[in-house]
Amino acid sequence: MDFNSLFTKYNSSKKGLSSNQAQINKKYGENILQKYKKDGFLKKFFLQFKNLMVIVLLISAIVSTIVSLLTKEYSDLFEGAIIFAIVIVNAVIGVIQENKAEVALELLNQKTQPQSRVYRDGKVVVINSNDIVVGDVVLLKAGEFVPADMILLESNELKANESSLTGESIDVVKDHTITTSQTTALAEKSNWCFKGTNITYGTGCGLVIAVGKNTEMGKIAKQLVIKPSKTPLEKNIEKIGKVITYGVLIIVAIVFLTQLIFSDKFDFMQAFLTAVALAVAAIPESLPAVITIIMALGVEKLAKQGAIVKTLSSVETLGSCTCLCTDKTGTLTQNKMTVTSVFVNNKTGNFENDNYYQLFLSAINCCNNAEISENGFIGDSTEVSLKTYIKKVSPKTLQSTAIRLNEIPFDSSRKIMTTLNKINNKTFVFVKGALDFLMPKCTHIVINNKVVKLDNTQKLLINSQHSNMTNKGQRVIAVAYKESGTLTEDNLILLGLVGITDPPRQEVYESIQKCFSAGLKPIMITGDHPDTAFAIAKDLKIATNKNQVITGADIDNLSAKQLAKIINDYCVFARVTPSHKTKIVKALKHTGKIVGFTGDGINDAPSIKQADIGVCMGNGTDVTKSVSDLIISTNDYSTIVLAIEQGRTIFNNIQKTLLFLLSTNIVEVLGLFVCAIVIPNSTFLLPSQILFINLVTDSLPAFALGLEKTENNIMQKPPRNPNNTIFSEIGWHILLQGFTQTLIVLIMFVTALNLWGNQIASSMVFITICLMQIIHSVNCKTLRSITKVNIFNNKTFNISFVALLALILFISLVPFCQTLFNINTLNLLQWLIVVGCSLLIVPIVEICKYIINHKPKKQIKKVA
Ligand code: ATP
Repeated sequence: MDFNSLFTKYNSSKKGLSSNQAQINKKYGENILQKYKKDGFLKKFFLQFKNLMVIVLLISAIVSTIVSLLTKEYSDLFEGAIIFAIVIVNAVIGVIQENKAEVALELLNQKTQPQSRVYRDGKVVVINSNDIVVGDVVLLKAGEFVPADMILLESNELKANESSLTGESIDVVKDHTITTSQTTALAEKSNWCFKGTNITYGTGCGLVIAVGKNTEMGKIAKQLVIKPSKTPLEKNIEKIGKVITYGVLIIVAIVFLTQLIFSDKFDFMQAFLTAVALAVAAIPESLPAVITIIMALGVEKLAKQGAIVKTLSSVETLGSCTCLCTDKTGTLTQNKMTVTSVFVNNKTGNFENDNYYQLFLSAINCCNNAEISENGFIGDSTEVSLKTYIKKVSPKTLQSTAIRLNEIPFDSSRKIMTTLNKINNKTFVFVKGALDFLMPKCTHIVINNKVVKLDNTQKLLINSQHSNMTNKGQRVIAVAYKESGTLTEDNLILLGLVGITDPPRQEVYESIQKCFSAGLKPIMITGDHPDTAFAIAKDLKIATNKNQVITGADIDNLSAKQLAKIINDYCVFARVTPSHKTKIVKALKHTGKIVGFTGDGINDAPSIKQADIGVCMGNGTDVTKSVSDLIISTNDYSTIVLAIEQGRTIFNNIQKTLLFLLSTNIVEVLGLFVCAIVIPNSTFLLPSQILFINLVTDSLPAFALGLEKTENNIMQKPPRNPNNTIFSEIGWHILLQGFTQTLIVLIMFVTALNLWGNQIASSMVFITICLMQIIHSVNCKTLRSITKVNIFNNKTFNISFVALLALILFISLVPFCQTLFNINTLNLLQWLIVVGCSLLIVPIVEICKYIINHKPKKQIKKVA
């Protein structure tokens, strides 16, 4: 194909664009698919009024204002104005909340954006895939997403999966030498790669021809612009919200009708306004937005600690995770591999002038893909450790002029790697890999400078050396060779063994203990030998007995049903391949476990998808990242445990917010209800007062409770039962705390009514409810006794507490505000009663918590 005209058109070359040209080429479009269009501020503001109750309230306020103007009852004017003001302030808060949630979600999306390798100014650089422009030359390799539509300039064994575009799930071969035309069907354009598809094999590079909306995927995506979906928790809360709405509407109707029928001094407008204001206040309209913000902010905090949660719904599953499967290398261990033992030519040291040792060094040097860079060696850490060892013992071996003629790459199913090399005039086959996979391919072994038959005695000798290394937790690489001009893996001569140490990460010891105390079973899944795996698992206290180790070969002999029956007896899975991992996840899920599973390679993607929480390490491939729920950029086990801890915290904080919002709403609804029935001639609260209480309680404290710090017992509790709703644990707390608050307020109201009349009693009720509710927000910091937590550790909460306290005092004491809210000046005794009753909620809720927390619980199943 003639690329020259394309290069000229886009001012590009085989070495890509210059940075300047990349800026210019933005004129061909941005590499983003059509996005969900967000509403503007004004639209969002007006959408706040789509709630029928708010509209009714506003109309009633307007009518009340007009009536008071006509009847010259100017005191009622304030009532209408204040209702108006509060409704507007509420709408503004609603918009701010929505915006905050949107921004947080957008930040999250940006964090999970794939990156691509492109040529810019002649060098390979990694950029956000969104920044790719037409004319860029993009490098491709297995596991990566194709970031834009491109014509291939090069391809080596390249294969792609285009099912997202064509529906065809079988990989298609991509070849830059094939020529296609514009009319060639999409599925047959073999010299093209398309945005949104992924590379499954080989390497290549391509010239970008179309980006964003102009790509084939973009054309489909136009029809698929979807609004971000709600999480199950949000849906659950919305459902509960509806039930509460109907309940409140019934109560409001009863309150209104009772006043209509039984009150002597019935004021239609007043009663109607009260009813509607109550409905507006008690219906938890803002709940879904508050929950989204709490989740999004929690998730944002997690991202700063190195754990990127891709969807908010995974936050809920994180909290109920009951077993955590992780690979060993790099996650539980430091991935800092060092060669610590060598066994060659029947010796473990003194290799001077040993020709076979030299051959062994050549073998691990040639059969190795680690490359030298400015900062040392780079590549697979096992291979890096081998090169580092060679550098230490024989630097000149690294300068070898050996030429690689062919290679069968290492893969975790075969567990060996083979190369064909020409050294001087001889050609050698070098093989390195796991002994149990390599030994069957060997016929001879080098012992005491001789090549001898690999008989049982020699096998025993090599196996015992192998055990010496594995029992110390070392990864063992066996090395073999043969002189041959063709690359075959048979009739090999075993040269020796290398033992490589990779110490556990220090933080993991504590994280494992945290897992156990949190009812989470830690499981190690590794391609390493069972003895190596057990030694590390024992050190980390994941396993105590060798009986807890099972191998991939054992799994092969079991049916899915049989595996599910015995799987809970094991916590170390050794010598496994990616295909075993899916079997393990399925079996664990079959036993009812909520499985967290980590991986990084493209082959791990099916198991990650299968798991309840798929975790991908930061160095994982695009495809693995795309199917995972959580990306751990630190590659560290402790960060996964931290994510689980945070997941539980976020869930707990949502519970605290709900507890506060709903228990305080009960006071207004129930108080008015009881008063309307029992003393219909009295005024319990005025509409503006109801709305103010709602403004105070629905906003700051509810939000601040969502930012509470992790409670110190959070990882000492068993995982949440996923079948329980968010209300299972807090339902009784909401009811009991709501009822007791109502009782205190009602007793105080009736007493004050008898002593000082309705005006004072109603003022006292208003101030008491305001004060009591912000004091009660402290109770909601925990479901345990507040003496068990540090109540001052949430800065936002502290500020909101003080600010609201000041606001309440301001409104109750400043004459202008008193007029606005129809409050009388209270004397010292009345103030003492108000403050006393408000404070009373602390000991009373402590008693409620004690009763609920000490009622007999169902036996919790021990972690298997
Ligand atoms: P983990 O789950 O602990 O990360 P892994 O998936 O990295 O383990 P594999 O890559 O499957 O495990 O490696 C298993 C075995 O293959 C090792 O014990 C070692 O003997 C051998 N091995 C590992 N890397 C290489 C390599 N680059 N070349 C040859 N053999 C290797």
